[in-house]
Amino acid sequence: MVAEIVDGKKIAAQTRAALAQRIAERTGRAERRPGLVTILVGDDPASKVYVGRKQRESKEIGMHSESAVLAVDCTQKELVATIVAYNQRPDIDGILVQMPLPKGLDEDAAIRAIDPCKDVDGLHPMNQGALFTGKPGMRPCTPAGCMRLLESCGYDPAGKHAVVVGRSRLVGKPIAIMMLDRHATVTICHSRTADLAAEVGRADIVIAAVGSPALVRGEWIKPGAFVLDVGINRVDGKLVGDVDTAAAAERAGWITPVPGGVGPMTVAMLLENTLTACELRDGDQR
Ligand code: NDP
Repeated sequence: MVAEIVDGKKIAAQTRAALAQRIAERTGRAERRPGLVTILVGDDPASKVYVGRKQRESKEIGMHSESAVLAVDCTQKELVATIVAYNQRPDIDGILVQMPLPKGLDEDAAIRAIDPCKDVDGLHPMNQGALFTGKPGMRPCTPAGCMRLLESCGYDPAGKHAVVVGRSRLVGKPIAIMMLDRHATVTICHSRTADLAAEVGRADIVIAAVGSPALVRGEWIKPGAFVLDVGINRVDGKLVGDVDTAAAAERAGWITPVPGGVGPMTVAMLLENTLTACELRDGDQR
């Protein structure tokens, strides 16, 4: 079997086009544009690239977009004051604090300072609690993007065995809950898992979110499995995922490439969350 390569770039572009249409309809009715602010602390090159992309893509679909850049040695108080100021701005619907923050700053406290209604990354405890209890709320972007990729291939997780490798707040834990909500049977693996190869070998759906190049080997993949590779690793100047893509593609039914798979969907879901936040705040939920 040779896997279908799931084109995240194309699906993200379709998602953005649909969002641009919804924004154009709003502005056509003389309603305000959704507003997104990205808050970057310091000048980490990778973070600058990510923030730049979020800025560019939000503008392209017609959002109001602005960025706040704080010095690497800014205090927690300054960071929280910046967040609170955006909480109070009526034209801002989404607040994204680019992680990781420089050493010495408390990421949890920064996330807690964001108004949960503007927490478009879905990391505030209110939103994480909503996810856990199956209530409406902002969903974390990367797992939401993975679910959208499954849907775009017409793949129904119900009754399937999903194996998540990684248990972070950002990816592993939320995607496990989302898979459970879609009636998959879920296993979560991590650094203490005794036999990762055996766990992955039982998976109809593999979600690799570790940050370790080619950790998931091709021969582990059950024939026909759906492989979602979340990892982003730089090896010899090239981006690679957590899955040995070439070997896994020989066995999988579907596989997401790196780059061009999950990554573009993460940004698309951030934009979707921002528009949804705007609609909810304006009371025009459809
Ligand atoms: P974290 O570092 O927060 O979590 C990594 C997880 O992997 C941990 O739960 C850890 O286990 C587990 N792990 C580490 N080593 C092993 C191992 N040998 N076997 C099994 N599990 C292991 O990472 P994130 O979840 O934030 O990110 C994961 C990857 O996804 C990174 O490459 C990141 O760059 C990428 N990423 C990509 C995004 C995208 O848009 N495509 C968005 C966000 C992240 P333990 O808990 O036991 O330590």
